[in-house]
Amino acid sequence: MEIDRAALRHNFRQVRKLVGPSLGILAVVKADAYGHGLIPAAQAFAEAGATAFGVAEIEEGVRLRQAGITGQIVVMLGVDRQGAAEAVAHALTPVVYTLDALEALGAQAAKAGCLQGVQIKVDVGMGRLGLLPHELEPFLAALRRFPKLYLSGIASHFPKADVEGDGLTEKQYGLFQELLTRVQGDGQGRINHIANSATLLRYPGMRCDMVRPGISLYGCYPADWLSQASALELKPAMRFTTRVLQVKEIPAGQGISYGHRYVTEHSTRLAVLPVGYDDGYLRRMAGKAEVLLSGQRAPVRGMICMNACMADVTDIPGVKAGDEAVLLGGQGAGEIRAEEIARWSDTINYEILCLFGSCNRQVHVDSEESTRQSVG
Ligand SMILES: *Cc1c(COP(=O)(O)O)cnc(C)c1O
Repeated sequence: MEIDRAALRHNFRQVRKLVGPSLGILAVVKADAYGHGLIPAAQAFAEAGATAFGVAEIEEGVRLRQAGITGQIVVMLGVDRQGAAEAVAHALTPVVYTLDALEALGAQAAKAGCLQGVQIKVDVGMGRLGLLPHELEPFLAALRRFPKLYLSGIASHFPKADVEGDGLTEKQYGLFQELLTRVQGDGQGRINHIANSATLLRYPGMRCDMVRPGISLYGCYPADWLSQASALELKPAMRFTTRVLQVKEIPAGQGISYGHRYVTEHSTRLAVLPVGYDDGYLRRMAGKAEVLLSGQRAPVRGMICMNACMADVTDIPGVKAGDEAVLLGGQGAGEIRAEEIARWSDTINYEILCLFGSCNRQVHVDSEESTRQSVG
């Protein structure tokens, strides 16, 4: 799997251009940077000007610090008691929503003799993490009892920002604004944020002090309909390739792969590829998947095996063992996007990036510099 750092930088700059020079951008690098490699992806965004990063877990924040990433790191799932010590030790900014976390962070900050920022997460209708609206003011009162803790921001998240023709997001944003106004005396210079990629694209009025793009930084759109006439011109950064193991001619009427679910209709040339469900190339894509060979699309025939699948190259002359096959990304004039693979496997592009990323070794390239760096 090839990750193009130049594409990552490009996408960050696209977001920067869209929101203007002064708005905060929290580059979301959770889940191993959506499968692109936590450290190299964060470094690429930093090169493009990122000064704030969003991770899910404390462990990811610690890894970023150990790799020399400076700036703000927001831990979006928050911390438990043990995580509180790490947050203080590594100057990470956790999201908070329980008194336990406040106490643990307050105690650790007092022990270390330093000021510790926290961001309050409120739930304005996502039904996931965060305080309910009526819990915000009592929670702020509790926060004020810890002299070493300060409120660095208030955050929330939309459940349906990517869904067309639905007034819910506007309503939820109204509630968020009302909450912010009610507690405007708390947290000098605090940074409030609610906008993921879909919000960023659709609702210029909901960017608050900082936006939190994830999927767009990796070159994908949060929904197919949002890719049309988009304000962001994105470049997918992930490319998944392999090499043909064998090319062979199969006669008509011959079954292919386990269960013989596909039977050749005519004499068929097959290219055997060393990629299967162990590499994230899911069984359920059988009968739908296509790969690129010589820049052209070749349908995958029969069941996808654990470590192999077969592409039909009857109509692509000259394919031979050792040739590059592309499962995701571009080759010549052809391109296969994560959105398309998501449709074959009945999921979303986000999951395809995470899946391919966690199953395969990443090689980081730079299409602007031609340096290579291997990770993991
Ligand atoms: C993952 C995540 C984001 C980024 O969302 P995208 O749709 O990838 O832009 C933003 N905020 C929170 C809280 C998230 O969990």
